[in-house]
Amino acid sequence: MIMRMSTLFVRTLRDDPNDAEVQSHRFLVRAGYIRRAAPGIYSWLPLGLKVLRRVEAIIREEMDAIGAQELSFPALLPREPYEATNRWTEYGDGIFRLQDRKGADYLLGPTHEEMFTLVVKDLYSSYKDLPLSIYQVQTKYRDEARPRAGLLRGREFIMKDSYSFDVDDAGLDASYQKHRDAYIRIFDRLGFDYVIVKATSGAMGGSRSEEFLARSAVGEDTYVRCTHCDYAANVEAVEVRAPQPVAFDDAPQAHAEATPATPTIDTLVDHLNEAFPRADRPWAAGDTLKNVLVMLKHPDGTREPLAIGLPGDREVDQKRLEGQLEPIEVEPMDEAELARHPALVKGYIGPGVLGEKSASEIRYLVDPRVVEGTRWVTGADVEGSHVLDLVAGRDFTPDGTIEAAEVRDGDACPSCDEGTLETARGIEMGHVFQLGRKYADALDLRVLDPHGKLVTVTMGSYGVGVSRAVAAIAEDTLDDVGLCWPRNVAPADVHLVAAGKEDALYATAEEIARELDAAGVRVLYDDRRGKTSPGVKFKDAELIGIPTIVVVGKGFADGTIEVKDRRTGEREDVATSAVVDHLVALVRS
Ligand code: ATP
Ligand code: MG
Repeated sequence: MIMRMSTLFVRTLRDDPNDAEVQSHRFLVRAGYIRRAAPGIYSWLPLGLKVLRRVEAIIREEMDAIGAQELSFPALLPREPYEATNRWTEYGDGIFRLQDRKGADYLLGPTHEEMFTLVVKDLYSSYKDLPLSIYQVQTKYRDEARPRAGLLRGREFIMKDSYSFDVDDAGLDASYQKHRDAYIRIFDRLGFDYVIVKATSGAMGGSRSEEFLARSAVGEDTYVRCTHCDYAANVEAVEVRAPQPVAFDDAPQAHAEATPATPTIDTLVDHLNEAFPRADRPWAAGDTLKNVLVMLKHPDGTREPLAIGLPGDREVDQKRLEGQLEPIEVEPMDEAELARHPALVKGYIGPGVLGEKSASEIRYLVDPRVVEGTRWVTGADVEGSHVLDLVAGRDFTPDGTIEAAEVRDGDACPSCDEGTLETARGIEMGHVFQLGRKYADALDLRVLDPHGKLVTVTMGSYGVGVSRAVAAIAEDTLDDVGLCWPRNVAPADVHLVAAGKEDALYATAEEIARELDAAGVRVLYDDRRGKTSPGVKFKDAELIGIPTIVVVGKGFADGTIEVKDRRTGEREDVATSAVVDHLVALVRS
C-alpha cells in the first residue's frame, strides 16, 4: 500500500505545541504522529501508529524467540486481587480507581502481576508445567504526579510486560537471564544507545533488578558508572560503602559551644574556623552533621516525621530517599508540624532530641558514613549553639542507616577500590526484576514438586515501555529540522517527493512509487498538486523523518532523480531508469 500525502490523515504544523518540554514531543506533534487528548494522554495518528506497530513487532519477535507466549489481560480490573497484595492501598494516588453501577470497585491496571499470578494459579498445579513465561503488550494507566515530555511519561501508555514462573531459584535465574538477553537484542534492534544498570528492588529486597536506560540528557533517571570497573547503577540503587568504625578511646569529651547566628552549614563552618581553628586543617562542611526533617506520607494517608542525619557537605536526594521508602511518599516538614515538636530548634537540631528514645520521639536514620567512632559538629538543640566532638556510638545512637544522601561525581566506587563514580542521565526503557515469591505468597500460587510437596512458585517481572520507546528513539535521532527515524522503525522506507508542475513528472513519480511498492519497499509519496510548493514538500519530508528522501524534480528533464539520506544529508543523482533497483538495494542493505 502506497501512502499518499494527498490523502494521508496528517497535517504538519509549523508551530510547536505550547506544552512541549522536549524536542521529540514537539516534532511528534508537529509532524502529525500523535495528538494530545488530555495531560499525559495521547492519540496515535496513522504515521505514529506505524512506528508504534514496528516497535511492538520487534519486541514480540524477541519475546517469542525465548519461548514467551503472548496473551492479553483487560485494562479494567477488579479490586480484590490488588487488595490481596495490598497494592490497592500502596499505589495511593498513583492509580485510577472507579466504580461500576453497583458500586463495586475497579481500577485501570498500572501493571499486572496479580492477574498473571492468578491465571497461572487457575490453570497450573504441577512443577511439570513450569517454567513458564507469558507476556502482553497492553495499555497501562498510572495517575503520574508529573506527566511529562509527551509519550515519555504518560498517564496512559503502552507497556510490554512479561512474567516468569519457576519452581526454584535456579529456574528463576535462568528465566531472568533469558529475558535480559532478549532485552539486549530488542534494544540493539531498536537502535538505542543504552546502559544496563543495577536498580533498587524496593520493598521486596534482595533479589536481582536491572534497568535498561537510554542515555539521554532529557532523562529523569540519574545513573552512575565506575571509572575503573564495570559497576553501573541507578543512583537510587547506589549503596555507599560504609567506612570501618574508628577507635574513639582518645576522643575528647563532647562540648557545647556558643556559635551565634550559625543556622546554616556555611555560617557554621566560617564561625568554627574563626573561633575554634583546627591545628591540622581548616574546618569543612563535611565535618558537620546536618539533620534534615521530613514527613513521611504512608499509602493509607497517615503521616510520620523522620530525621535524616548526613554529612553537612551533602544534600538529601529526594529520589534516593523515596526509592528507599517506597511506597511511602516524602514531603518537607512544614512549620505547623515543627511547632508540634518543641524540642526541635530550627537550625540547631542535634541527635540529642532525635531517635525513638528521645524527647521528640522522631525516628532518626543516618547516612552510612556516620559509623561508630566518627566525630561531628552538630546542633546542640539550643539557639546559637553547637556541640563539637560528638562521637557516633558514644554520644548518640541512631535508629538505623538510610541511603538518602546525594551521590556525586568523584565518589568512591562501592564495588572496587580504584575507581570513582561518574554520573549521567538516562530514560528508563526497560526493567528486569526478580520478584521472588512476594506475589505467589500473597495470592497462594503453589504447585506440587517432584516429591508431591506443595511449593510456592517464584516469579520474575520484565517490562518495556513501548510508547516511551517511540519517543526515546525520536529524541535520540532527531536533528534541528525534524525527526530522523532509524530504518528499523520508520513509518516508511522512502519518502518520494514529486516537485514540479508537469504531468509527465507526476506520471514518472507514480510509476516509481508503484514499482517500489511491488518490490516490497514501503513508500510515502508526496503527490500533492496545486498550491503545495516544492519548498513545503521538502520541509514536510524533513520533519516527518523517513530515512530516504527521493526527489523527482529539477533533474527530471535530464533523466535523473535525487536520492537523499535524511540523516547524513548526502545526496546523489541516480538515472531515472535505475532508481527503483537502486532504492530496493538501499532499503534491503
Ligand atoms: P519510572 O521510574 O520511569 O516511573 P517505573 O519504574 O515505574 O518507571 P515499571 O513499573 O518498571 O516503571 O514499568 C516498566 C516500563 O514501563 C518502564 O521501564 C518504562 O519504560 C515504562 N513506563 C513506566 N511508566 C511509564 C509512563 N508513565 N509512561 C510511559 N512509559 C512508562
Ligand atoms: Mg522500573
